[in-house]
Amino acid sequence: MKEITLHDLKDALDRNEFQLYYQPKVSFQTGAIVGAEALIRWYEGHSGNNIINPGEFIPLAERTGFVSILTERIFDLLGKDAPLLMAQDPNLKIAVNVSPHDFKKNRIVNYMEQLEAKKTLAPTSLQLEITEETATTASDELVAVMMALTEYGVLFSLDDFGTGYSSLDVLSRLPFSEIKIDQSLVRQVSSNPKAKSIVSATIRMAHRLNMHTVGEGVETETAFRDMAFAGCEITQGYWISRPLPLADFLEFVALGHRWPTNVAGVLFQAQMDHIQWRHDLVDLYHGIADGVAAGSAEVTADLTRKISDHHACRLGMWCDGNARAYASLREFTALEAPHRRFHEIGARLIEKAVRHDTGECKDLLHEFSQLSTDILNCLHSLEDVIHRSSRAAAGGKGAGAASA
Ligand code: C2E
Ligand code: CA
Ligand code: CA
Repeated sequence: MKEITLHDLKDALDRNEFQLYYQPKVSFQTGAIVGAEALIRWYEGHSGNNIINPGEFIPLAERTGFVSILTERIFDLLGKDAPLLMAQDPNLKIAVNVSPHDFKKNRIVNYMEQLEAKKTLAPTSLQLEITEETATTASDELVAVMMALTEYGVLFSLDDFGTGYSSLDVLSRLPFSEIKIDQSLVRQVSSNPKAKSIVSATIRMAHRLNMHTVGEGVETETAFRDMAFAGCEITQGYWISRPLPLADFLEFVALGHRWPTNVAGVLFQAQMDHIQWRHDLVDLYHGIADGVAAGSAEVTADLTRKISDHHACRLGMWCDGNARAYASLREFTALEAPHRRFHEIGARLIEKAVRHDTGECKDLLHEFSQLSTDILNCLHSLEDVIHRSSRAAAGGKGAGAASA
């Protein structure tokens, strides 16, 4: 095949040969499609039968800066596709791949504003995927634009995680809400115990940084189950579907497939989130009480209010979110009371530590621990009952993958 030149790309653009394909993203918690990644395809030549994948021309586009013109076209195409996507399901989140060039001169903000002006896609329905490699070399300009777009409601995904060298700086400074665990790791998750451990540790790290995870490149049922078991929230891969032209994607969503859900991973992460929260609270309490760590000045009224709010921790957000699916289960509703009380006591402990008031603290700490055990027991019972009912409903079998 002849080498692709910049001239070819410009011609292709003039001839409107670029199209968007959509690859579904599925929630491990609900088993439903929650969004899609838009991926560019080039229908090359006048016959339009030869489809060229982005791996063959995006590197050239990136090298030459032509990628920003392509991104502009991608946003135009998305603007045209978006009404149909939103009509199919207004909750779909559509992810677009962007490169550092797109952040120069506020280009990406302009594309976004045009989408919004035409009322085709709300910023909150859009996710922008930035590779780990790009993120590690992010300029101040790129970071500033990311911050501005986050204010606007746009979500950012850290793509290809595990292939670059994310630093503390990247993970803590840039406003990512999602980490996409790279295919190279996901592909090994079922055969390599170390890959499994890295995936598991990545999910824990993501939760600590208030992010969720997507497992990319899930090609087999085994990989799907292993990623679910690890507690990953969303998945994408050939086992669910290859990227599809718009019409096929819409048809695929309309089928309303439900992929198997596996609560073991999610509940494990919920337990770990709770244990971590308790650990941090006890650490803060002792730090203030012993006068060695955070001082009372750092404990604002805002912080104690947040501690007392059992909806604000990760477990609480999960209870208010995807876990609502279990609202009819006694094992789920039983969580509410100990969880609320646990947070109230947590806040009281911190208030007392700040005032150097040690009265009742021993009893409060004891009750705090007891409530934590009650919460963990509720989560165990919930896991048990969900497993039993899903086994009964499926007759011991999971749903199959959709072939597309
Ligand atoms: P990416 O962003 O990591 O996108 C995921 C790639 O993995 C896609 O390849 C997708 O088709 C493929 N994939 C998804 N699931 C599986 C699976 O289970 N197994 C295997 N083997 N592959 C899977 P695609 O569409 O060829 O895109 C390749 C790369 O090109 C993308 O990697 C992204 O870096 C770039 N790209 C694609 N579309 C765009 C675009 O619109 N703009 C920009 N700037 N880059 C794009
Ligand atoms: Ca991507
Ligand atoms: Ca990727």
